[in-house]
Amino acid sequence: MQAWDVIVIGAGAAGLMCAAEAGKRGRRVLVLDHGKRIGRKILMSGGGRCNFTNYHVEPGAYLCANPHFVKSALARYTQWDFIALVDKHGIAYHEKTLGQLFCDDSAQNIVDLLVKECDDAGVTIRLRSEVLNVERLGEGFEVATAGEQYSCQSLVVATGGLSMPKIGASPFGYRLAEQFGLKVLPTRAGLVPFTLQPDDKQTLEALAGVSLPVVAESEDGTRFAENLLFTHRGVSGPAVLQISSYWRPGERVHFELLPAGSLVQAVAESPNQELKTWLARHLPKRLVDVLLVREELTSKPLKQYTHKELAAIEQRLAAWPLQPGGTEGYRTAEVTLGGVDTDELSSKTMEAKKVPNLYFIGEVMDVTGWLGGYNFQWAWSSGWVAGQVV
Ligand SMILES: Cc1cc2nc3c(=O)[nH]c(=O)nc-3n(C[C@H](O)[C@H](O)[C@H](O)COP(=O)(O)OP(=O)(O)OC[C@H]3O[C@@H](n4cnc5c(N)ncnc54)[C@H](O)[C@@H]3O)c2cc1C
Repeated sequence: MQAWDVIVIGAGAAGLMCAAEAGKRGRRVLVLDHGKRIGRKILMSGGGRCNFTNYHVEPGAYLCANPHFVKSALARYTQWDFIALVDKHGIAYHEKTLGQLFCDDSAQNIVDLLVKECDDAGVTIRLRSEVLNVERLGEGFEVATAGEQYSCQSLVVATGGLSMPKIGASPFGYRLAEQFGLKVLPTRAGLVPFTLQPDDKQTLEALAGVSLPVVAESEDGTRFAENLLFTHRGVSGPAVLQISSYWRPGERVHFELLPAGSLVQAVAESPNQELKTWLARHLPKRLVDVLLVREELTSKPLKQYTHKELAAIEQRLAAWPLQPGGTEGYRTAEVTLGGVDTDELSSKTMEAKKVPNLYFIGEVMDVTGWLGGYNFQWAWSSGWVAGQVV
């Protein structure tokens, strides 16, 4: 049996960051991953350019049963620390929008950065090595893959979430947590497109490809000002992905298609303009055609509506309701909500309170960020803090 100081399960964002940091402290570190390539999710992230962090990272951008949990790690290893690392490796990047930082060239730059950091720290990475079983061995652990048995003092679980099963996502980390008596909160797909109810699908299908800026609002009052995109399958775009993490089956989502006050004001400015023409000045024409039918509106000059009628139309379009049929699920979701309950873990080190020397980092735990680089920042921050102590 091969003996290591630290074994990290998962050569993704969190696992590699943790491994490099532990290696720098002189720990003998082995990273095991069942994939054929290192950092597969990083490579496909951000449309191949990896949105690796965000200028505006703050605890409020994370969903977690205990919202305070993320504060310590995010404060100890910040977006500025990761940006400094990106600078150190000479990687060119740019801000796309809303503080989101992307590589100019390719997500491969970020994988190369992590591999170089691991190499320099003497970390060993073994691919095509699926961890099948873990047992307690004294103060440490025994780890089994198909062909090998390993032992380690510290075990770090960085197996990620359930999204994108095609590229190696597995529930292994959750099962391992349960095996050691740790609570795992129910999981569901997040940052994911919505599917529609049959009636809505019929009327809205014609809008596939239409995109517009909106404010999306969930029933708990969370709001995101981003783009809404109609697709053949339902609705998507950043506004939908963001709000999907706050949505529960059966709930409605409201979209502000028009700012409140605009239509009522328009009567004074353009009394003779038809409703349809006025709407088409502010919204994509294809959407206006569908809205008139769906909302049963007859188009006539604005002055012919009563104030009450216009206010009602405006109210409807300022909070346009949609009750999704569901989500596209893990197949297309960017993240998994829920996971290892953070109450089981130390917020300073990510160590399991009940199981000394067992650590959980990254997406496998119940921490999910907004769209826009927040999830990688959580992987870097949680991986870094664990790397200081494992
Ligand atoms: C299409 C897509 C685009 C994304 N774009 C962005 C973006 O631009 N910005 C952003 O911040 N976030 C993005 N995300 C989210 C981000 O990729 C994840 O939050 C992040 O990768 C989580 O890192 P992790 O290290 O916890 O897990 P992962 O990166 O998922 O790594 C887990 C690793 O564990 C391995 N593994 C699992 N089980 C076992 C086992 N039993 N034995 C051995 N190995 C195992 C897997 O093969 C995998 O390599 C995106 C996600 C997707 C799906």
